[in-house]
Amino acid sequence: MSTETHQAANFLRTIVQEDLKSGKHETIVTRFPPEPNGYLHIGHAKSICLNFGLAKEFGGRCHLRFDDTNPVKEETEYIESIKESVRWLGFSWGSHLYYASEYFEQLYQWAEYLVQQGKAYVDDLAADEIRTHRGTLTEPGKESPYRGRSADENLDLFRRMRAGEFPDGAKVLRAKIDMASPNMNLRDPVMYRIIHAPHPHVGDAWRIYPMYDYAHGQSDAIEGVTHSICTLEFEDHKPLYEWFLDNLPVPQRPRQYEFARLNLTYAVMSKRKLLQLVKDGDVSGWDDPRMPTIMGIRRRGYTPEAVRSFCDTIGVGRSDSWIDMSILEESVRQDLNERAPRVMAVLRPLRLVIENYPEVESEELSIPYHPQKPELGARLVPFCRELFIERDDFMEEPPKGFKRLSPGEEIRLRGAYILRCVGVEKDADGTVTTVRCTYDPETRSGLPGSERKVKGVIHWVSARHSVAAEVRLYDRLFTDPNPAGDDWKEHLNPASVEVLHDCRLEPSLAAAQAEDRFQFERQGYFCVDLKDSRPGAPVFNRTATLRDSWTKK
Ligand code: ATP
Ligand code: MG
Repeated sequence: MSTETHQAANFLRTIVQEDLKSGKHETIVTRFPPEPNGYLHIGHAKSICLNFGLAKEFGGRCHLRFDDTNPVKEETEYIESIKESVRWLGFSWGSHLYYASEYFEQLYQWAEYLVQQGKAYVDDLAADEIRTHRGTLTEPGKESPYRGRSADENLDLFRRMRAGEFPDGAKVLRAKIDMASPNMNLRDPVMYRIIHAPHPHVGDAWRIYPMYDYAHGQSDAIEGVTHSICTLEFEDHKPLYEWFLDNLPVPQRPRQYEFARLNLTYAVMSKRKLLQLVKDGDVSGWDDPRMPTIMGIRRRGYTPEAVRSFCDTIGVGRSDSWIDMSILEESVRQDLNERAPRVMAVLRPLRLVIENYPEVESEELSIPYHPQKPELGARLVPFCRELFIERDDFMEEPPKGFKRLSPGEEIRLRGAYILRCVGVEKDADGTVTTVRCTYDPETRSGLPGSERKVKGVIHWVSARHSVAAEVRLYDRLFTDPNPAGDDWKEHLNPASVEVLHDCRLEPSLAAAQAEDRFQFERQGYFCVDLKDSRPGAPVFNRTATLRDSWTKK
């Protein structure tokens, strides 16, 4: 499809190419390692496209590994949603689905090995004492009074930690590196802590759980990962990543590379904040169409192609930057412009009667689905005496330059006839309830001589044949490009969704299935809601307006 865009710079592709060319690796192995403590977001999509994309491009493989070292925050619902998100994006891990928790025994054995080598020790300091002993960026840390324990004593205590003899927080296992290191990560980092909680994946086998920094590199080594790609904030952790690999008898040696994370304007992406929006009821769930989660933008109507093309467009670099939300929105517009069938939907209906059209008659007009793509075919749209048009396509007293319908003026109905407005009916408040028109039978679209020019074209549906629908007009979730700080929620957009209950769609849409996508003529791109739409009671979500309405503001 024409959503293919020019591939932007990606320094990791160059590294992989060189490693294959020089024979450093015969094949590359990458991994995507989410912590199952929330749904994946568009930032994760960047990492997925990068890791799975490189493996695909160079004939290697990419593992999906759940980084499930913290039993307290992780849930099975998240595991399922993560798998679904990766699959939806169009990637496959094949048989390479892993859980860091499945390596707990090996990780434990290696920890004992470090203890025996005098390179790890059990510390009784409390968490806050460990923190104050760590020093600062300008001052060295202070050694713990327990740092000098013998290997035998450490081994005994570590085994008793595993056996569950001590309460949470009573002891930790620390790597014995250098309390004066200029890199804070090397000041005897904690490797294990005591948590008396069952684990969602491996049950209640463990009372101690490894820290991310200890588990991650060793998991990479166990799986034979060649390129362990993470975001820039792990750059300072790299010496620790390497220290563990240097000091353990690992089967092979992965290498860590860092890239700049995706920051998107008008969105929050930390899972903590996304969870808060869900818990506080600001959105209907992790997959609310306003959320920047992969499941949210899917429900919004984005295509996997649009998300992948977005990730290609922004490229992969090493300096942090912000990507404007309009770039993401443009990616879906470009994709749907190519392939979404054009249909007519009236969102705020106003009744229109054609006085010179016979009462009981109707006809079917064949209207193509796409102006530039005849291969998409056409559908029949019924036309009759009573129609609905968009309320704001009529004005009784129009301003100068108004190109739609007003008394005495002519307009073309898309794919149908030219009408002239000959009068209106109003209710007691003076609100127009019906527009009265006459039509010119000689002007049917496609007929010879039908090209007579009028100043505007509007969309319409037959009152009798159209189907009722609910339409949800979504907009950006935040009004501020960078909703940061303690009051970040004050920037929530109060108009991020408007629900219209009384919309009328052309009858071809009665057959639409969940996730079908359309362009509603003159309105935007819409899709059938994945969750709430029912046969006979369709619900459509607005994916994007036809044009960017934010950038000019
Ligand atoms: P959060 O900070 O929102 O909790 P996280 O980084 O802790 O996110 P993980 O589940 O650990 O979430 O992330 C899995 C992978 O996705 C990691 O390799 C991480 O580097 C990558 N990732 C997370 N956020 C982004 C982002 N905004 N841009 C690119 N990659 C990201
Ligand atoms: Mg993380």
